Amino acid sequence: MVIFNDTQQALASRINSKSTISNWQDWKWQLKNTIRTIGQFSKLTGIKFPDEERSQLKSTLDKFPLAITPSYASLISKENFRNDPVFRQSFANVNELIVRNNELEDPLSEEKDSPVEGITHRYPDRVLFHVSNICSMYCRHCTRKRKVGDIDFIPGSEQLIKGIEYIRSKPQIRDVLLSGGDPLMLSDSQIDWLLSEITAIPHVEIVRIGTRMPVVLPYRITDELIAVLKKYQPLWINTHFNHPREMTASAKEALRKLADGGFPLGNQTVLLAGVNDCPRIIKKLVHSLVQNRVRPYYLYQCDLSEGLSHFRTPVGKGIEIMESLIGHTTGFAVPTYVIDAPGGGGKIPVMPNYIISWSTHKVILRNYEGVITSYQEPDRYENNFCNGNCEDCSLELNVQESDEIESIGIEKLLSDANDSISLIPENNERYNRREE
Ligand SMILES: *Cc1c(COP(=O)(O)O)cnc(C)c1O
Repeated sequence: MVIFNDTQQALASRINSKSTISNWQDWKWQLKNTIRTIGQFSKLTGIKFPDEERSQLKSTLDKFPLAITPSYASLISKENFRNDPVFRQSFANVNELIVRNNELEDPLSEEKDSPVEGITHRYPDRVLFHVSNICSMYCRHCTRKRKVGDIDFIPGSEQLIKGIEYIRSKPQIRDVLLSGGDPLMLSDSQIDWLLSEITAIPHVEIVRIGTRMPVVLPYRITDELIAVLKKYQPLWINTHFNHPREMTASAKEALRKLADGGFPLGNQTVLLAGVNDCPRIIKKLVHSLVQNRVRPYYLYQCDLSEGLSHFRTPVGKGIEIMESLIGHTTGFAVPTYVIDAPGGGGKIPVMPNYIISWSTHKVILRNYEGVITSYQEPDRYENNFCNGNCEDCSLELNVQESDEIESIGIEKLLSDANDSISLIPENNERYNRREE
């Protein structure tokens, strides 16, 4: 498919009067010509800033680097650029210099949960593996803002090997999530090597890649890349569309290649004030995602990273959006709305309430239309008492002891085999008194 519209053509010719469509569609050309300064941005897009703002913007860039691929920049509408969702996500804003109370450099404590550099091991059975420190476009709303792009360095193979060794040493890791930065900033041969190492580990059942390339540099999804990735099924790919405007012809083409390659596709959206904090925008976005074979996976509440306060919405906005989706549209077009717990507690799903009341024999529910209904509980139910030993149970599953992970949290309180009756915060004064 040939896609080269007037805006793209104009932008390409300002980069070099001899630029051709094959330059434009070459991801390495796009990377080489990535916009990194305000001057370059103004020159290529024709968007100019007053002197005072320009100097403030420059201090913003000293703290958080700028990178916009020509391809993504071509989506900005010049006439109304200040409200443009692509501009807002990619171009610096002087508000980034404001650091509010409770905002943190590492809001999710990814470093505290990092046993070796590059690995975040937060959940029992899966890890986040930061395999690149750079992106083709730096999202202004990035949660890893202080780290990503800082030194423009791609972790060397030595560091990657340490991460691989860690995964190999922990048999409970069955799911490895490659993240960054953007893992697809690595070359095809580096990706090939990395995936061959990780998938050779017997206990790794699935690998996932989190990448924004289909949105910000769709030409990165080449046939050659697909051929490399195909060798390592099952491979799940998650991308990051935030606004329906980003679903361009070339983005669709990238998604088509990935879906035809056989990779299950998911999308993670961040809820952003002034970009997509509107039920209609999100609904349109999820519809265009499923039309392109992408399953909306998460809708994230914006993290408490430094300098993101102008992007944050109240949680109520997210709940209002979920209310507008659940029941109103295709079930698999509805993402899970999550708040990533500050301090490293992981993702916490948040939803409108659907259970209104409860008795021993009835549950009272309400649906998306406001209809209130009752569900009759079964008269008889024989619970399978679970002592944790599958041999004593009539259900046909035989969990090996080695497969078992100790139950924690509310799951533990619910379990038959556990005799603890409450979860008590550390240093609870009342309990400390008892100890004395
Ligand atoms: C999001 C995340 C994961 C993956 O979580 P899923 O809910 O399984 O998608 C794993 N590790 C860390 C540190 C994460 O932030």
